Amino acid sequence: MIEALLYEKLSNKTVQCHICQRRCVIKDRGRGHCRTRVNHLGKLHSLIYGLVSTMMISPIEKKPVYHFFPGSAWFSLGSLGCNFRCPGCQNWDIAHSEINLEIKGARIIPPQELIQTAKKSECLGISWTYNEPTLWFEYTLEGAKLAKKNDLYTNYVTNGYMTLEALDLIGPYLDVFRVDLKGFSKDSYQNIAHIDDFSGILEVIQRAKKKWKMHVEIVTNLIPRMNDKEEDLKQMACWISEELGKDTPWHVTRFFPHLRLSHVEPTPIKTLEKTREMGMKQGLDYVYMGNVWGSQAENTYCPGCGEPLIEREGLETKEIHLKKGRCQFCGHSIAGRF
Ligand code: SF4
Ligand SMILES: [Zn+2]
Repeated sequence: MIEALLYEKLSNKTVQCHICQRRCVIKDRGRGHCRTRVNHLGKLHSLIYGLVSTMMISPIEKKPVYHFFPGSAWFSLGSLGCNFRCPGCQNWDIAHSEINLEIKGARIIPPQELIQTAKKSECLGISWTYNEPTLWFEYTLEGAKLAKKNDLYTNYVTNGYMTLEALDLIGPYLDVFRVDLKGFSKDSYQNIAHIDDFSGILEVIQRAKKKWKMHVEIVTNLIPRMNDKEEDLKQMACWISEELGKDTPWHVTRFFPHLRLSHVEPTPIKTLEKTREMGMKQGLDYVYMGNVWGSQAENTYCPGCGEPLIEREGLETKEIHLKKGRCQFCGHSIAGRF
């Protein structure tokens, strides 16, 4: 248990956490909404510093991130807890669990060991993923600083619900921001993440891109009747194009019934195809369909000449037709790092 960053002492040993936008006010001996932060005698502590529940080496495509050194191996790890309780969460066993060292063989890994393992395994970088990395803030900040000193890239796979203060602390040390945009209406965010206001998430994404120059890729998991209204998706595509740039990759992924959404059918392929088409009509250069095995919409096509430039099959990158980040057929510059 270590003392937390970014909290404020109030009266009567109460504290307020400023790591995520919930900004929980926590009484002595109480815990925050995420269960990972506990107030002990007027000081806020993190219960998950260095506590790793899941780790593996995987291609960056798995996140999914498609425009940052395609095919590279990354050391991916996650802890326990989340600040959302999404009803269809794929990682609910770690994200919604009580904080407990015995869960799934979780163990403590100091940041130095993390860096050594990533280097030894010849990984290009480190991805904090599986559960919301913001809750692991103290550990991921230290890990990201060390990673940069050791020539490793860094990636946050996040729901974007962190505060601007937290973003500004870790911003200088993050290269990639793979962020979920779970919908584009109050209703969608209420149904999925149980929050009233998602404007703070948009602000965080813009700032990650504009102030901290991170490489940003957006993922929207389309859930029938929860976030798939055509009008909302159109507004989302416009927002991405206008605020982040038309060359920002947008992954629209297929939902499969799970957890408390076991009764909801998988996203129809037609909906994904229509959304991809609409996104491109709104001017986005790279709209991908995810969780659809064998789809041509997982390839990268040149916005200049239309040729396939990066051909993928599932998580595997098969062919790359780029020269110094440009289309080898027409010379068009392709967004990202290659
Ligand atoms: S990180 Fe946890 S304790 Fe802090 S504001 Fe968010 S939910 Fe609350
Ligand atoms: Zn081209």
